[in-house]
Amino acid sequence: LISVRGVSKHFGDFVALNDVDLDVRRGEVVAVIGASGSGKSTLCRCINRLETITSGEIRIDDELLPEEGRELTRLRSDVGMVFQSFNLFPHLRAIDNITLGPRKVRGASKAEAEQRARELLERVGLADKAHSLPAELSGGQQQRVAIARALAMDPKALLFDEPTSALDPEVINEVLDVMGSLAERGMTMLVVTHEMGFARHVCDRVVFMDRGEIVEEGEPEQFFTAPRTQRARDFLSTIL
Ligand code: ATP
Ligand code: MG
Repeated sequence: LISVRGVSKHFGDFVALNDVDLDVRRGEVVAVIGASGSGKSTLCRCINRLETITSGEIRIDDELLPEEGRELTRLRSDVGMVFQSFNLFPHLRAIDNITLGPRKVRGASKAEAEQRARELLERVGLADKAHSLPAELSGGQQQRVAIARALAMDPKALLFDEPTSALDPEVINEVLDVMGSLAERGMTMLVVTHEMGFARHVCDRVVFMDRGEIVEEGEPEQFFTAPRTQRARDFLSTIL
């Protein structure tokens, strides 16, 4: 569903991504792990064309991502993104944060969008918070609204960039639980995370990045118990 081929991203002389190849199949849940600065966020941002790429190709559902224009807007809305810092509109109530995209981009009616938003709030366990402003919600609740907002666009895949890193420890699990249930329902997901339990037990595959390259990828159990590369062993020894 997501196909990244020979993608490089340079910032001036600095190589943030170096010839990256990655495939995410429909229904697959892939964890991206690696040290700070290894290029994980840059990879997500390139897949969603929040960054242009220096070379290579990215396809979503076999369609080449164009540089710009209306096609880009459409393809980009096929891939939802959830950030570390929720990025909700602070002046909009939860339900209005969720209905904004479908109404503006998809041309959904108010009633239709609100009906769907209520279903999604229910799915992330926040049926009673539809009329709360972001500031009235905990970090975990805000992040679940952000997930509902991404789902409201009916994306083919979701990208998560460290969705729990900004959260207090006690609410991390409520967000991981919602992500786990999406995984069970067959959502295609690419998840940058430091939550090794999630990577190991929920994800189908782990991709390990170091200095802008994918150094190793494989089945989680194999990766965590018997990493093949020294760089992965070094990384795991710093975090486990
Ligand atoms: P972290 O775990 O800290 O989030 P990361 O793996 O997500 O790290 P990236 O944010 O992808 O790392 O950054 C990779 C490298 O690219 C870093 O060295 C960063 O300084 C550099 N970089 C990222 N964005 C830019 C930019 N807009 N301009 C210049 N350099 C950048
Ligand atoms: Mg990052």
